Amino acid sequence: MINLKELEVWFVTGSQHLYGEETLNKVAEHSQVIAASLNDAPQIPVRVVFKPTVKSPEEIYAVIQEANVAKNCIGIIAWMHTFSPAKMWISGLKIMQKPLLHFHTQFNRDIPWATIDMDFMNLNQSAHGDREFGFMMSRMRLNRKVVVGHWQDEESLSKINDWTRAAAGWHDWQGAKFVRFGDNMRYVAVTDGDKVEAEMKFGYSVNTHGIGDLVKVINEVSEEAVDVLVAEYADSYTLTPSLVKGGERHESLRDAARIELGLEAFLVAGNFKGFTDTFEDLHGMKQLPGIAAQRLMAKGYGFAGEGDWKTAALVRAMKVMGSGLKGGNSFMEDYTYHFNPDNRLVLGAHMLEICPSIADVKPTCEIHPLGIGGKEDPVRLVFNSAPGPAINASIVDMGNRFRLLVNEVLAVAPISTLPNLPVARVLWKPYPNMHTGCAAWILAGGAHHTCYSQNLTAEHLQDFAEMSGIEFVLIGKDTNLYQFKNELRWSEVAFK
Ligand code: MN
Repeated sequence: MINLKELEVWFVTGSQHLYGEETLNKVAEHSQVIAASLNDAPQIPVRVVFKPTVKSPEEIYAVIQEANVAKNCIGIIAWMHTFSPAKMWISGLKIMQKPLLHFHTQFNRDIPWATIDMDFMNLNQSAHGDREFGFMMSRMRLNRKVVVGHWQDEESLSKINDWTRAAAGWHDWQGAKFVRFGDNMRYVAVTDGDKVEAEMKFGYSVNTHGIGDLVKVINEVSEEAVDVLVAEYADSYTLTPSLVKGGERHESLRDAARIELGLEAFLVAGNFKGFTDTFEDLHGMKQLPGIAAQRLMAKGYGFAGEGDWKTAALVRAMKVMGSGLKGGNSFMEDYTYHFNPDNRLVLGAHMLEICPSIADVKPTCEIHPLGIGGKEDPVRLVFNSAPGPAINASIVDMGNRFRLLVNEVLAVAPISTLPNLPVARVLWKPYPNMHTGCAAWILAGGAHHTCYSQNLTAEHLQDFAEMSGIEFVLIGKDTNLYQFKNELRWSEVAFK
């Protein structure tokens, strides 16, 4: 359901008429080479489309206006090969609604020492032309990403890749619909927030359906469709013996499959990109969706439990951003701690709903009591997750602004078997260390719910926050609490 190759970024080169036709032909030729090279680079997941050089306020306005309404255009890469007087950019930048990456590059990597003359100097002017453009964007207080480096340089490609992925996530949110089955878990604060402000800021809408609307669709699922899905479960996972056909709990597996099929049908019919549910509102459902939520996440839907719509939307955006990369993205909760001074760890899990995109082996499919919700035992996938660098991300509503909080963590391999823990789980060490990382998270008001990502970095999320115009707070290797508290205090003023 996610295909980044349908999306485009437009490569726009600025210049002016001053230089004459010969130079402008060279500018156009070089821009096409760079755009084609970015388009062909396997590191960049979207199409890069060359646009003719813009040389006047009218041409600049026209291309930005066109980008604003182009359905598949997710952003603009701007480059000033020559000097493009930036007052020409004001009217265009004033109406710009798409994210912008300012690529501060140069066609020639090296200065041709033996042959360089004033013709070369007149053509290869981005060193000062891009500063003129940069001033205008700073003067207009416009967020953008600035990438500096030669266009064939691996580091440049990597930074452009991060930004295009963030832009794809941002594009996906515009007009996106998320459905909540039931409200937020009663009395819970951090998962709640201002849905009107979120729609204005983020572009996605969140609306509620009574659980009865979903139950009706679940009850319409055919027995044949359930047969097919149950067979797929048996092929894909190691079923616990009681769930196998003929086993004493096999009917529960069929109930779980019916819930998954009903949920998916509901999401498809409503064109929803994600959903929330809550164990407090399951009237007419036999189980809390476990394997259903897990598998729908793996297909690309956003999800979070207990009505947490902000996290469900974030999970969806991060799945779009990480599309095609090795590793996965999942709804997550900081569940319990290992405070052993030799090896301090967080155990992340949820009651059921961890996405199998982060599983390190074939999951087992099991059934166990839930302990809350008062329904039948839910079926769930159980697995460990691979070690390696990862991040946890959370969006909180601070009342006057949204804050995107990211903690860089290091996932570690299980240090013991967990024979009695019937849920998928991950172990990680927060950076810079357990005590500082957790203290910073709590000081920043970060939620217990997050999106856990194996394939995105803080840079993707920082670019994403810039596009949405919200606060970005990073807890990483260099975090110290004195500086961190000051940053939070100063941001309070910056976002006043
Ligand atoms: Mn929870």
